[in-house]
Amino acid sequence: MRSYTTFHLQYAHRFYNFEGEAQYLHGHTGTMTIEVEESINPGVNMVFPCNEIRKTAWNILQNFDHALILREDDPLLPAVLKVYEEQKIRNGAPRNTMKGPAFKTELATAHPECRLVVTKETMTVEGMIKISYELLKDKLNIARITFTSGDNAGYAEFVPGTAVCRCPRCGIALDGTGRCPKCGWQKKD
Ligand SMILES: [Zn+2]
Ligand SMILES: [Zn+2]
Repeated sequence: MRSYTTFHLQYAHRFYNFEGEAQYLHGHTGTMTIEVEESINPGVNMVFPCNEIRKTAWNILQNFDHALILREDDPLLPAVLKVYEEQKIRNGAPRNTMKGPAFKTELATAHPECRLVVTKETMTVEGMIKISYELLKDKLNIARITFTSGDNAGYAEFVPGTAVCRCPRCGIALDGTGRCPKCGWQKKD
């Protein structure tokens, strides 16, 4: 059985060196659905608490929300950084509080202080699915990610890893010592 959660990401991007309208800067509201596979936890009778999937995913993926996403070789990138620098908002605007932790993977680097994500490949829906899986695969037992943006939609299925030990009261993952970080329940060997 699977649990899933859906949330929205609003972002601006363009397809650099692409023949078509998408070569111009434009924006989207993207919708992401993350499906998590687990066995049903006997205590709480749920696969995985959906609010925990959302919290875990949003903590990292909020870096894409209200962000500009540019490919690493796009000449707009140094141009935008220069303007942000001159405006003194490159290293953080006072009201930019909705920041996720900075990350750097093979496919993407987040600069939360200036709401920018730099990608290795063009940020299509397929690209976003690959990036998101890379960022979340060690935190969630992901079976499928679906992403839609404008008329574009895609999904990818993944082989879920081994089941995570979870609290029978809250359903959230136990820490390394077998203790529930929420209610303090302790697993006995
Ligand atoms: Zn687009
Ligand atoms: Zn608990």
